[in-house]
Amino acid sequence: MNELYQTLKKFGKVKLDEPMSKHTTFKIGGPAKYFVIVDDTDKLVELLKFLDGEGEDYILLGGGSNTLMRDEGYRGVVVKIQNSSRFNRNKIQNSLVEISAGCSTVATAQETIKAGLTGFEWGVGVPGTIGGAVRGNAGIPSGEMKDNLLKCEVYRDGEILELSNAECEFGYRDSIFKHNTDVILRVWLKLEQGTNIDLQKKAFEYIDHRNKTQPKGFTAGCVFKNVPCKTLDAKILEKIPQEYIEKGKIPAGWLVDQVGMKGAEQGKAKVSEVHGNFMMNMGGARAQDVCDLVEKVKEKVYTRYGIELYEEVQII
Ligand SMILES: Cc1cc2nc3c(=O)[nH]c(=O)nc-3n(C[C@H](O)[C@H](O)[C@H](O)COP(=O)(O)OP(=O)(O)OC[C@H]3O[C@@H](n4cnc5c(N)ncnc54)[C@H](O)[C@@H]3O)c2cc1C
Repeated sequence: MNELYQTLKKFGKVKLDEPMSKHTTFKIGGPAKYFVIVDDTDKLVELLKFLDGEGEDYILLGGGSNTLMRDEGYRGVVVKIQNSSRFNRNKIQNSLVEISAGCSTVATAQETIKAGLTGFEWGVGVPGTIGGAVRGNAGIPSGEMKDNLLKCEVYRDGEILELSNAECEFGYRDSIFKHNTDVILRVWLKLEQGTNIDLQKKAFEYIDHRNKTQPKGFTAGCVFKNVPCKTLDAKILEKIPQEYIEKGKIPAGWLVDQVGMKGAEQGKAKVSEVHGNFMMNMGGARAQDVCDLVEKVKEKVYTRYGIELYEEVQII
């Protein structure tokens, strides 16, 4: 049996030629030559050191909820970080919550609510892992990871480092981790005691809003980042409704709608009719179908508005 396969088994559960469509919320993606599920942070560090030492190509996957894996798959090692069953309430002390990167964001939010803490209720509707959420500075209009994170621990070139919030260089759906190869291992959220706040009600309202505004099905959430108005010149802004200019961002979904792409189809991929910034796999869509739709939308928006859209979804 293959030597690499045997060694990888020391670190977690290994599968060969595993279809990535089984591990992404889009349900799209060809096979990973090696697929390792690691549910322990120490083992993860050992694995990363091994892969770096051997010069093996690898990529990371959390919940696969912000990822479009290509049809040809990945010829190296896909490391799936998954500690979702390991959220431990003992890790909450004085409103400081320690979480392993592979814990589910939804479960983390639910546990902080149960512990009577406020600040992270917005996480109840965001799929995926805390590590993925930190990398992308996930959030909703009323909160994002950068508002809650005190510090995090990362693996960088064989070393374990602790980074402060400022050192994460958060921006709108952006962080230093989108521009380097750090692996987020552990995260500390600084929350507050939720005295006099009905936390469950707040969480319910977030979920209710999602249910009313977002489509159900195989998707990776928003495909494009909303467009910050400050990046646009006055001539372009003349075509944009005042309410978005006042809020400082143009919703990408609105632009998609304006150029008539809501409901557009390519193969089995479709732009949602419910929310213009969601693309759906209607069953058997290829990554190429989604990429073709992405390009069509970008071209139409650029031609009509002179605005360049950038992907929020990670295409790997
Ligand atoms: C229905 C739906 C609704 C959504 N709503 C929202 C929303 O409201 N707000 C929002 O911001 N997003 C939203 N998303 C997108 C997605 O849920 C978030 O971006 C989420 O935080 C991604 O986490 P993940 O673990 O699934 O990341 P993955 O898709 O697994 O990975 C994304 C990227 O992060 C990298 N990565 C993963 N883990 C680590 C780690 N530990 N260290 C370093 N890099 C890592 C991966 O290599 C990849 O490049 C939604 C998605 C869906 C399907």
